[in-house]
Amino acid sequence: MRNLKIYEEAWSLHTPFVIARGTRSEAKVVVVEIEENGLKGTGECTPYPRYGESIASVMAQIASIGAQLESGADRQALQQLLPAGAARNAVDCALWDLDAQKAGQSLPQLAAAQLATRVTTAQTVVIGTPDQMANSARALWDKGARLLKVKLDDHLISERMVAIRAAVPEATLIVDANEAWHSEGLAARCQLLADLNVAMLEQPLPASEDAALENFIHPLPICADESCHTRDSLPKLAGRYEMINIKLDKTGGLTEALALAAEAKAQGYTLMLGCMLCTSRAIRAALPLTPQVRFADLDGPTWLAADAEPALRFATGTLYL
Ligand SMILES: [Mg+2]
Repeated sequence: MRNLKIYEEAWSLHTPFVIARGTRSEAKVVVVEIEENGLKGTGECTPYPRYGESIASVMAQIASIGAQLESGADRQALQQLLPAGAARNAVDCALWDLDAQKAGQSLPQLAAAQLATRVTTAQTVVIGTPDQMANSARALWDKGARLLKVKLDDHLISERMVAIRAAVPEATLIVDANEAWHSEGLAARCQLLADLNVAMLEQPLPASEDAALENFIHPLPICADESCHTRDSLPKLAGRYEMINIKLDKTGGLTEALALAAEAKAQGYTLMLGCMLCTSRAIRAALPLTPQVRFADLDGPTWLAADAEPALRFATGTLYL
């Protein structure tokens, strides 16, 4: 027999996180603990209003399958019990963690054949004035970050990007518009980004407007984030995106994330691995995917004033495993 615990936590950020969707000052997460024979598996998720999720709705979803979990439902059974999303993610990762402990391993060891000892992670430059963003990019570069993820909304695109590129001429830049752009003007913005040697553009258009990317010739890769949740998302991305951003809170856990990675690679997509604002608990569960991805964007815990223990070790731009 197992014991199930579900609870919420709020983690303050040291700096406001500003993206096209709004400003956040704390990370609110849901934690699941599954205890069995003295071993305890822990999983964490970040409910996301963009996908219709709240702390309350996610906790209710998890509670709704409490009886099945306490009577021994495994990861395979879980995939049918809950839809993809944050709730299934927390449970799936708790079950992975429990299985790892039964095997005497860490979760990343159990789920990945080979792991590097360090991973380059993107560090996020949040939305601000062109000067603020350029200064922030430069400060991250000076502290060792080489891959910067620039958040944009629908304003001051060239002013911000030109200022940032001038401040960090050698950085690898990726840009995330979080669905804030429109198809009118997209070609010119893509050309500007390519001229500034930006490596990739993430989710420029609302997911509902993906059709506008069909037959849209663009000079840099475009990556699906809000448009790509699970393997079921892939058919509608074909011919529109070259990359996908895998996040466990979208796939509903590591189990589907590994399956999505394999299927997307087989279909020719390049992979990125992302995260929400979260603690090291959530990042640890995503580590098995790091060997497969072109860009890892795992800086969530670096925004927290304090991280959950045991914390992963981050230096600016690098995550040590
Ligand atoms: Mg994104």
